[in-house]
Formats: sequence, structure tokens, C-alpha cells
Amino acid sequence: MKGVGDRYRQIRNTIRFLLGVSKGWSSEKEATWFQMEPYDQWVLQTMVEREEVWKKCIKRQDLHTLAEQLDRWVIELSSGYLDRIKDRLYSEAEESERRLAAQTVCVHLLQRLLISFSPILPFTTEEAWQGWTENPHIALSVHLATMPHPPSEWVNDPERVISAPIFEMAKHGRKALEGAKEKGSILRPLEAALSIYVTEEKLPDFERCTVSLPEVFGVSQVGVFPLEEWREEAAPFAPPDADWALSVALSEKGKCPRCWMRTSYGEDELCERCHTVVKSID
Ligand SMILES: [Zn+2]
Repeated sequence: MKGVGDRYRQIRNTIRFLLGVSKGWSSEKEATWFQMEPYDQWVLQTMVEREEVWKKCIKRQDLHTLAEQLDRWVIELSSGYLDRIKDRLYSEAEESERRLAAQTVCVHLLQRLLISFSPILPFTTEEAWQGWTENPHIALSVHLATMPHPPSEWVNDPERVISAPIFEMAKHGRKALEGAKEKGSILRPLEAALSIYVTEEKLPDFERCTVSLPEVFGVSQVGVFPLEEWREEAAPFAPPDADWALSVALSEKGKCPRCWMRTSYGEDELCERCHTVVKSID
């Protein structure tokens, strides 16, 4: 039974986190699809894709599979996207486009997760629905709410904004970061600069979502290089028979004391972003 309790706590904590993030939200702050970053877009596309599977579970009254699937999605979200956007949520200026994009996604996630979970967790979801003052849905109860129809961009994008090979590479990245931590070359992933070497064929996949790569990999910087041109440099970091290589180094950039990212120095030893944010508060 301990497992069930842990799973419940994880779901409740995720709902609580999303409720916290949606504080101060109003529909005028809604980021458009084009203001979102690839990682934001990927989450929305993936969620809508999974909802199709969940709907089928509900239709055949298979609440066991539904619970398992939802559970898996919550674990994936909380150790992935929701963890990685914390920098944007807590360090960006409150009304910045980057922060509002992440907040917009969280509002949609919360609404859709509460509706999806309502057959399994009727009281928890109703309590959250009633306590959510910024909820843009008109239904007075989660049990009366219908799932909003997703905008066409969430379903009709022919090319995935972040393709599966990038998440595969992120797994290799996590292993390499663990190795670097064990060796003592870095203390935490945010200190790392990753260099990824991929074939010409895979390069466009990575280039399409350059801006999201540090979040997907959970580091401060990610550089992507064509393997063919950089074969010599990549050789020490290429596993046998692999058509990729990945190296971890301590970033040469200074550590910002406010956000702990290693990107660039602004004034006051803060990174440029934090310098601007702090100045605007003064
Ligand atoms: Zn900073």
C-alpha cells in the first residue's frame, strides 16, 4: 500500500505546484503558440496525444489502466518539464514572455489533468478545482467540466517540435553528467556545458529546438556539432559503434549568484537576464 500512498502524494504535490504557478494568472496573459518555446509546445502536443489513450480507457471503463497512464505522465512531468521550467518561473521577470509561456502551459496542464483525474480522484480534483481562483474554465465543478478542444497547433504540427532522438540523447546526457559528478569535474548539472555531436541527418532536429536544449538536458549550456566535421574532437566521447558523441565540461562562464546558471556575466556578477530583472525591481 505504500506504493499507492507515494503515488497519491506525487499527484497531489504536482497539483499543488501547478496551483501555485497559476497564481496571478489571467487569460490576457495567455502566451500564443508562437511565443512558446519548443519544450512548452512539446508538452502540450504530448498531453493531447496521451488524452486520446485516456479517453479510450474511460470509454471501456478501464480505470486501472487510466490510473497507471496518468500516474506515469505525472512522474514524467514532475521529473522533467515541471522541474526544468523552475528557472523561468522563479528567475525571469514576472511578465516576461518566457515566464508567461511556461505559466500558460501550467494552467492548461492543471485544467486538463484535473479533468482527466476526476474519475479516479473525485475529491482531490474537486477540492483543487474549487480552490483554483484563476481557472479559466466556466464549469462550476470538475465533474461537470468537459475537456476543452485543443487548438489545432497542439495536434496538427506535422513535425514534432522535439523529436524522440533528442530525449534519447538526454538519457545519455544524464549518464554522462552522473559520471562527471562522480569524477568530481562538476558538482551539479547546472555547472555543465554539454557538447553533442550528431550526424548531418539528425542535426536539423536539434537545431529546430536549440533554445530548449538546456532545459531538456538540465544544464546551463548545450552546443550541437556535426559529427562528420568534428570527428577528431568527438572521438574520445563517442561510445563504440555509436553515431553520436557527448562530452561534459565545467562551463567556462561565471555562475550567477541569483539563478545559478552559467551563461554570461552582466554587471554585478549577475547574468545579463538577472541583472535586468533585479534592476527593474529596484
Ligand atoms: Zn542569473
